[in-house]
Amino acid sequence: MRQQSLKKTIMLKGVGLHSGLESELKIHPAAENFGIVFKRVDMPQAALVKGLYTNVVDTRNCTCLSNADKAVVSTIEHLMAALSVRGIDNALIEVNNPELPIMDGSGKMFYDALKAAEIETQNAERKQLKVLKKVSFTDDKGNTASLEPADEFSVHMEIDFPSKIVGHQVFDAPITPEIFATEIAPCRTFCEKYQVDYLRSIGLIKGGSLDNAIVLDGDTLLNPDGFRVKEECVKHKVLDVIGDLYTSGYQIIGRFEGIKTGHYHNNELLKVLFSDKSNYEIK
Ligand SMILES: [Zn+2]
Repeated sequence: MRQQSLKKTIMLKGVGLHSGLESELKIHPAAENFGIVFKRVDMPQAALVKGLYTNVVDTRNCTCLSNADKAVVSTIEHLMAALSVRGIDNALIEVNNPELPIMDGSGKMFYDALKAAEIETQNAERKQLKVLKKVSFTDDKGNTASLEPADEFSVHMEIDFPSKIVGHQVFDAPITPEIFATEIAPCRTFCEKYQVDYLRSIGLIKGGSLDNAIVLDGDTLLNPDGFRVKEECVKHKVLDVIGDLYTSGYQIIGRFEGIKTGHYHNNELLKVLFSDKSNYEIK
């Protein structure tokens, strides 16, 4: 299979989740072997920021990149997931502030825009990362994320949430464009009302609203239109996994498993994977 980019630039606009500032995103075509690379157009002197796990500097509320020039680009994961599933290997992504627009809190608008765009097939062969040995990362609470050999990319994810309307949810399936488009891309980020109240009190999530997140108040869902798909919460975590794993720089051939894991585990898992060349092969 050969590498792909876009034929033309795509533009998207929206607010940044934390800053509340209008954020403008341009996804430009790029040459083969360029990778997924971000540019802060409001910091013209700053170096480009490669969308790689080695540039991840914060995983608390989203996946946030930075470089030696402190050019921060945060909340990349939903766009990265859409790029990965659409098969975009090379793109230069310009953004005019530290946050990508949150859009509707899911990957749907990014994926729809990429799906509608014309693809440029390039000459260079795409390289994929095949997992050869099981690797895992366990946090101090005993929650584990792992990657193991398989013939295709699949994700197993489990969450356990105190709210009865979420509870225990499990997703387990290969990630195909069809499953992604219908089951995963539309799934919004979720949080509890007390977290919203706290984050607001410290000046964050100024752009957050029921238009871009699922908000739970105990056993009540505050969004008047309810969930978009069955078990939306666990599937949003799958969206995050797909985006975070694309910061490996490759499409991964292997099975991911995560039990109550998030951005932090995904990033640490990639560090474990790349710490020993016998864990994988690039082909
Ligand atoms: Zn997310």
